[in-house]
Amino acid sequence: MALPLNKDPMGQAIADYYKNGSAARLRVFSQSFDEDEIPVKTLFRSCDEMPAVEQEALRLASGLILDVGAGAGCHSLALQEMGKTVMAIDISPLAVETMRERGVKDSRVQDFFTLDGHFDTILMLMNGIGIVGTLSRMPAFFMQLDYLLTPGGQLLCDSSDICYIFEDEDGFIDLTGVDGYYGELNYWMQYKGIKGSPFPWLFIDPETLSEQAEAHGFKVEIVSRGDHYDYLARITRK
Ligand code: SAH
Repeated sequence: MALPLNKDPMGQAIADYYKNGSAARLRVFSQSFDEDEIPVKTLFRSCDEMPAVEQEALRLASGLILDVGAGAGCHSLALQEMGKTVMAIDISPLAVETMRERGVKDSRVQDFFTLDGHFDTILMLMNGIGIVGTLSRMPAFFMQLDYLLTPGGQLLCDSSDICYIFEDEDGFIDLTGVDGYYGELNYWMQYKGIKGSPFPWLFIDPETLSEQAEAHGFKVEIVSRGDHYDYLARITRK
């Protein structure tokens, strides 16, 4: 389902930054941490400015590629420059309009969970697997993945093990009081006067991701690890 304009703070921030070369603060709220901010400029990062795990994902992407939650289109544009073929989807009409104007050839306002089509590589970057929201939605996620991936197809996604949020002063992880899986967060964003609705966003550690994949007929290979609990995973059918 497409995001309405008055509920799309990130899309508005992306559109403003593209039109004016600057944007106001894109604020992020969650019960699990203090108010944070996404620097809007980072959504416009070039290939050289991307973290190593993202550059690796772009290198490994092959065949017909799907960029899920493409935002301002940075990965799709980098893939096109590499001569690769990509379709970009996002639920934000403002983001899709911007990536189209920036030169993404095939961009659509489309929810991953209702997409029809077949792809050799599916990319979910900048913790893109977060759109799954909660572990309870993993069956629906893997069912859709199985539908969309060609035989031999791959999902490349990055995420972080956010256990460090729960570290006490002695360096021990203390999960008392955490309800359910500790990577299940609730977020909401605000940009100028535009407040988004709260949405669940999943961070998943590599072991839990492997267990989930195995339970749904897939397997996980950890391709590389970043320098702050982040990693790139390649998921294929068993
Ligand atoms: N991949 C981009 C943007 C990440 S922000 C980058 O790395 O810069 C996550 C994006 O996912 C947002 O633009 C949001 O609108 C989009 N999104 C969230 N849920 C989605 C869904 N179910 N299907 C497609 N896109 C989704």
